[in-house]
Amino acid sequence: MSKILIIEDEEAIADLERDYLELSGFSVDIEYDGEKGLETALTKDYDLFILDLMLPGIDGFEICRRIRDQKNTPIIMVSAKKDDIDKIRGLGFGADDYMTKPFSPSELVARVKAHLAQYERLIASRGPKNHVIEIRGLKIDTTARRVWVNGVETQFTTKEFDLLTFLAENPNHVFSKDELFRKIWNMETIGDIATVTVHIKKIREKIEFDTAKPQYIETIWGVGYRFRV
Ligand code: CA
Repeated sequence: MSKILIIEDEEAIADLERDYLELSGFSVDIEYDGEKGLETALTKDYDLFILDLMLPGIDGFEICRRIRDQKNTPIIMVSAKKDDIDKIRGLGFGADDYMTKPFSPSELVARVKAHLAQYERLIASRGPKNHVIEIRGLKIDTTARRVWVNGVETQFTTKEFDLLTFLAENPNHVFSKDELFRKIWNMETIGDIATVTVHIKKIREKIEFDTAKPQYIETIWGVGYRFRV
């Protein structure tokens, strides 16, 4: 169920909007002044905001601007003055739609539905986000399996990538060569742990500025390796 926040100081209007929206299956909260409205808008999750322009406390211009600093949620701005609507439209305040009061509640419901549908399409078109680890100059996109060192894409073999990613995902944790060998090479028994040493050396050559003084993968003598953040 989509959640909508109405920020409106005229109770009769706010209640009417809520009644119509609830009848259409939306969940609706109302705030009657600017300050509370802004706080609720920024701290809770909503799918759409209906924002009155003239409000006690903080006005609709400022609320719209502050919401836009943090969220892309659709905003429908309403005002009793057509002149104000024309003005803010021209200023490009970042609202998605503007309505002049009085408007018919069914017109509001229609626009709410249209903006929600548009926003859902926008979100869907972005697709799922890649998981990216960024530590100083090192950037690992674990979804695309790509690595950048100081902005330059660098090639890693499958096992080098797996080892680097495993260490970077578990920073400040010392792993022995045995543990790393079992994790990355998927073997139950102790195998040739020298493989780990060889791979660490190759990774360092690719990511470290000075392999004698590693900034990312530290050697903990007699124990193993630790990824430093
Ligand atoms: Ca008002």
